[in-house]
Amino acid sequence: MANPNERELHYPFGDRVPAPGEVLDVAPGVRWLRMGLPFALDHINLWLLEDRVDGRDGWTIVDCGITNDATKAAWQQVFDSALAGRPVLRVIATHMHPDHIGLAHWLTERWQCRLWVSATDYNAARMASLSTTGFGGERAAAFFASHGLADPQALDKVRARSNYYPGMVPKVPDVYRRLMDGMTIAVGSRRWRCIAGYGHAPEHMALHSESLNLLISGDMVLPRISTNVSVYDLEPESDPLTLYLDSLARYETLARDTLVLPSHGKPFSGLHARIRQLREHHDERLADVLRACSERPCHAAELLPLLFRRALDLHQTTFAMGEAVAHLHALWYAGRLVRRHDDDGVWRFAGVPPGRETSAPAY
Ligand SMILES: [Zn+2]
Repeated sequence: MANPNERELHYPFGDRVPAPGEVLDVAPGVRWLRMGLPFALDHINLWLLEDRVDGRDGWTIVDCGITNDATKAAWQQVFDSALAGRPVLRVIATHMHPDHIGLAHWLTERWQCRLWVSATDYNAARMASLSTTGFGGERAAAFFASHGLADPQALDKVRARSNYYPGMVPKVPDVYRRLMDGMTIAVGSRRWRCIAGYGHAPEHMALHSESLNLLISGDMVLPRISTNVSVYDLEPESDPLTLYLDSLARYETLARDTLVLPSHGKPFSGLHARIRQLREHHDERLADVLRACSERPCHAAELLPLLFRRALDLHQTTFAMGEAVAHLHALWYAGRLVRRHDDDGVWRFAGVPPGRETSAPAY
């Protein structure tokens, strides 16, 4: 279903999208490619930047796709036909999610080059590829149960899904180079500035080139869907929605006609309109949650129909639970809701009457 807000955005390439293994030029020295994903969200956009490192001409890859045979085959096609006979010189991952960092180990081994990523996401990726951090297993099931998910079948599926992250990211390179907020990277003749963003991944890096008027936004600003912002079992008291909304301000300082290269969907202009839409979307959801909790105390699971208004499969339910908790926590930390741990082991959140707002809980 098209987002009616899309009318405020402009897609300079129309409906053209690269097929797996193909590339489209989007700016001088910047090429767009796509890899498939086995989810409802069925693709990820990746970028090739013309580069020159240590006197060698070649390419920098931004984001990798997940580890599977189809993605490797699509990359092979790109290597054979779209690199003009030049090597890959480095691999940048915007963040640690499997579709972005999954094949980094294979690409960096294949080309004997370095992975560049934030330290936080590098370490989170290594930890997650060795364990079940945040995406499945016993602890995830207990976390969802503590927020009211009661369906035993759904909980069993979450428990059983302990190989979720390592299945798509079996390995993370042993060494890396650290990206930091504000750092400038020289890629060929262009300079790209790292902009850290929070709330979606531990420390997501978007890349901005002023001379090309381009923002590689990763997952922080997407044209059609709203970025997933979730509380995970690893960090059960986190407030990622506030972090995310605060991070959006970092892109509002960029030029209004910036061309945005997102990880999902099509390149677009209308960055400022899109950020306003995202803020409005979350403001509406926060108002819905506050209203529901003011009528009677609510747990996250019972807010899913209110927040999502459609049937959800297990994959979507786990993301939706994380998002529902994120909205509750934003209101809790703002002092608009109080939470209590009931005798059934479930966290419920209740509205604070106007004029009696509590001071926000101290971190
Ligand atoms: Zn992501």
